[in-house]
Amino acid sequence: MGLKATGVGRVPDASERSHTDPPRISVRFRGPTPCRRARGRRGVAYSLVVADLDTFPEDWTRALAVVAHPDDMEYGAAAAVARWTGQGKSVTYALVTDGEAGISSMPPAEAGPIRRAEQIAGCREVGVDQVEFLGHPDGAIAEGLELRADLAAIIRRHRPDVVISINFRESWGGPSWNHADHRAVGRALLDAVRDAANRWLFTDRGEAWAGVRFVAFSGSPSPTHWVDVTDSFDAGVRSLACHNAYLRALEGDMASPDAFLRGPAAATGERVGVDLAAAFEVIG
Ligand SMILES: [Zn+2]
Repeated sequence: MGLKATGVGRVPDASERSHTDPPRISVRFRGPTPCRRARGRRGVAYSLVVADLDTFPEDWTRALAVVAHPDDMEYGAAAAVARWTGQGKSVTYALVTDGEAGISSMPPAEAGPIRRAEQIAGCREVGVDQVEFLGHPDGAIAEGLELRADLAAIIRRHRPDVVISINFRESWGGPSWNHADHRAVGRALLDAVRDAANRWLFTDRGEAWAGVRFVAFSGSPSPTHWVDVTDSFDAGVRSLACHNAYLRALEGDMASPDAFLRGPAAATGERVGVDLAAAFEVIG
């Protein structure tokens, strides 16, 4: 199977680019002022003051990352994963979809297998060798009992201490609208952590697991914690670069892994006093 994307050179349409929708905010920090966001007009740089971030707890051994699409972890969280696997922690990825509807120039039947392979390759770059695909429809994930049951089942099977995902809030910050799949998976995931701990729910989906301490979301407009990724940043870039077919269909900064990831990492790092850092909203 070739990894060459069809239609290379064409300008992707909005629906194609919106598949991942990472934060497009311009971030400029203004010193140790209280936590406050000043919003500006679209396209105009505005300051984002991230104060009072706590150090991300690292006294755990097993994490499960659950996201909607291939590349979701790579747009901001992968460098932290590389740090954690480098510490000897175990991190498993679960992809709710194959991302088959994420490249408008490529039919889903062709894109799905390619994007799965790219995700597996991206995982290897950050020390993750367990990747599961849950097979829900890309772009049409239904938040409900079926999804909660699937997520509770995988939580019960892997018994993680920590669950990781990406932003499920309505916005990435400012005038933006998050992808429906991200919103659905994030909310269902928080529910599923609770469901997984309840022995009377989804009784045919494994033994209850109440050991999840918290769920951490990267890309949130309301981060609470930070992780130093100075030494693992390059691995995160390599992980995103593995999404070759997807990236080749993009344009601008999103198509350049290092350029896209370095700005937010440097800005968060400046705020907390390191070169490069990743921010997470921790719930739990
Ligand atoms: Zn996505």
